[in-house]
Amino acid sequence: MMESSSSSSMMMQRFCHRRRLLHLLRPPTSSSSSNGALLRLPRPQSRLLPQPIRSRKRSSSSSAVAGWFSMGFGAKKKSGQLPEIVKAGDPVLHEPAQEVAAADIGSEKLERIIDDMIAVMRNAPGVGLAAPQIGIPLKIIVLEDTKEYISYAPKKEIGAQDRRPFDLLVILNPKLQKRSNKTALFFEGCLSVDGFRAVVERHLEVEVSGLSRDGRPIKIEASGWQARILQHECDHLDGTLYVDKMVPRTFRTVENLDLPLATGCPKLGVR
Ligand SMILES: [Zn+2]
Repeated sequence: MMESSSSSSMMMQRFCHRRRLLHLLRPPTSSSSSNGALLRLPRPQSRLLPQPIRSRKRSSSSSAVAGWFSMGFGAKKKSGQLPEIVKAGDPVLHEPAQEVAAADIGSEKLERIIDDMIAVMRNAPGVGLAAPQIGIPLKIIVLEDTKEYISYAPKKEIGAQDRRPFDLLVILNPKLQKRSNKTALFFEGCLSVDGFRAVVERHLEVEVSGLSRDGRPIKIEASGWQARILQHECDHLDGTLYVDKMVPRTFRTVENLDLPLATGCPKLGVR
């Protein structure tokens, strides 16, 4: 669905990643029967655009924390290029991000980071992205779900997941709280853990407060799929990936998404 449809092409993708040919090998994808395309969406054929990959100097997140802003992140990449999505294993994804300083809000650098995040999310395409996923250890998330994206998912699944479109949200320094004790178990995926899915239990209803990109306090009350996206992205800011919270025996490749759950796995749905 969203990526290659066979393991051999996945291997080819991996092989060619280093040769920066990834985008050439992505097969067109049709509407999918995904039962858990959370943050990784089907890639419409028309979006088989070259996906520039910026070579990112690998550094531990502690050095990145110390110097990301003064070092002028973003100025190094050539104009027109999008940052690469950082993959699991990179320390920046496994350690907490730091708060955006009030003085940096509205600055050219921060604005560029936010614009990059939105562009990377839409280019993937995905429904959410956290700054560490482009190598920036800052508490920033972006999310958006559209009618078009939702149209790729089976109707039954959309209903069960309570998935509804919402406009682009940019949240700085988000703080998340649950609004009820209800939870939901569904498959989800992550742009930083490409090609896999697992069931994760999430709060059904949450509230997120933080700042808009221009520094105004905002509060979002969300339920269903939007609540899941918010939890997934806020987890990134704590250095937590969905695989840290998944029901381990449900972990699988995207190709095997629709295969039955193993005996003993919890049932999908709201509880
Ligand atoms: Zn993610």
